[in-house]
Amino acid sequence: MAALDSQPELKATVLVVEDDEAIRKGVCDRLIAEGLEAIPAADGHAALAAVTRLAPDLVVLDLGLPSLSGFEVLRRLQATGGPPVILLSGLGSESDRVLGLEMGADDYVTKPFSSRELAVRARNLLRRTMFRENPAEVGDHYNCSIDGVQLDVDFPRRCVMLDGGEIALTPREFDLLACFVRHPRQVLSKPQLLELVWEAQEGWVGEATVTEHVRRLRLKLQTERSKANCIDTLWGVGYRFEPDPS
Ligand code: CA
Repeated sequence: MAALDSQPELKATVLVVEDDEAIRKGVCDRLIAEGLEAIPAADGHAALAAVTRLAPDLVVLDLGLPSLSGFEVLRRLQATGGPPVILLSGLGSESDRVLGLEMGADDYVTKPFSSRELAVRARNLLRRTMFRENPAEVGDHYNCSIDGVQLDVDFPRRCVMLDGGEIALTPREFDLLACFVRHPRQVLSKPQLLELVWEAQEGWVGEATVTEHVRRLRLKLQTERSKANCIDTLWGVGYRFEPDPS
């Protein structure tokens, strides 16, 4: 508990979406014991209403929900740039984990899990989110050009404009781009990116996750005007973000 108690200033609201009453109550009780505010929701519709009404800082989302599935709730949250999400699943299959990640979830816990471990992960994710929202090191805005096309990153709003139009990035894709623009022309290895962007020791986040996110980010950074690739692959070494010379 020492790691949790060391940052008592972290005040945050966590929405717990789980139809199993015993699990829902166990998770809420643990989060409250950790000094967080916990809001229970027993189904997806209640969850979406609570997100709109209460703007929680984090959502713990069970995938196995009645009527509206956890995946559908996740899809709707991501479509509106919602809060970070930790998924719960009793299935534990790799395809669910990958799909959840691809849809923008930040973390994943397989049942059965300890509510204490979940609380630690929630705390860590909240700290990372709050850290990311502090743009002190880079200023609020970054801009460069890529093959003559203007790229603007607005850190406080987590918004990216390319050639004057906003592009839709998942939270993790935004964090990956933010990492690249903070290290322009610098080679970053996959283990470095896992450390800097995912900050995760979880066994299921591997280098293939980095490869896939880089692939999708590259595609999103292309326009009708330019199909140039601004993230170079250095085989066996890593990746390098190469904006045009300023
Ligand atoms: Ca369930």
